[in-house]
Amino acid sequence: MIPLRWRLLCGGACTHPEKVVLPTGKWKKRIFPSLFSLFEHPSYGLILFDTGYARRFIDETKRFPYRIYRMTTPVRVSEADSAVAQVEKLGYQASDIRYIILSHFHADHICGCLDFPSSTFICSQKAYQSVVGKTGLKAVQQGFIPNLLPENFASRVQFIEETQRIKVISPFNEGYDLFGDGSLIAVDLPGHAVGQIGVFFRTEQDQQIFLAADSCWLEEQYRRNSMPHALARLITDDQEAYRESLKKVHQLSVEHPEIEIIPSHCLDTWQRWKGNGEWRK
Ligand SMILES: [Zn+2]
Repeated sequence: MIPLRWRLLCGGACTHPEKVVLPTGKWKKRIFPSLFSLFEHPSYGLILFDTGYARRFIDETKRFPYRIYRMTTPVRVSEADSAVAQVEKLGYQASDIRYIILSHFHADHICGCLDFPSSTFICSQKAYQSVVGKTGLKAVQQGFIPNLLPENFASRVQFIEETQRIKVISPFNEGYDLFGDGSLIAVDLPGHAVGQIGVFFRTEQDQQIFLAADSCWLEEQYRRNSMPHALARLITDDQEAYRESLKKVHQLSVEHPEIEIIPSHCLDTWQRWKGNGEWRK
């Protein structure tokens, strides 16, 4: 595994009743940050994993039916929260981002895509096919807002299914070697959304990390193998597949405590990792 320089970043947040995510929790609101990652690969340059929210989420959810999205998950996002603003703050330009890996197509993961007009996207074909061409209510039901994707997305995407399959760590059997050098290994995490993927990698500090996307929202969930409240089914694509994916992440945490698991929306995880590793251009 080629080590990567890595920085965990936060692209805005939303609030939601805790109980929906954790049935033993309370109905009070809890903050869910939208985490994304920046990598520097020795040969492939800068790579993002997801992009978080951006201000355009507010504009794109002014009207119905997209407003429903904003009503169910009230969002806090400033200009400075966007992925591009954070990349620039670290001393780079949008054009320095060569690849953007998308875990899935929910709006809180793809809001920044339009700010990187020269990046190549990497995602699962299944995920893309499940949203392409969908608008209005059909899109909202899948947490998708079509105007957030660049019009030329189809000509800029590489599907993981076309990359080399390799055997990976138990309880995952098979993964996708995204760059053919073992630096970033994607695995399927279906259930929350069609074709969702997570990614394994190793940092320069020799820490193994698993970016678990939305296979669980909180650390408590994968530690206890705890399914969300029945209400969350409204936004879950496939309940059984969700259960299977969550179980795998739980097993990973038990069998490989040395691997740090990062769900995309866990505030505790964010507080532990924010500002990780000095990043100088
Ligand atoms: Zn999601």
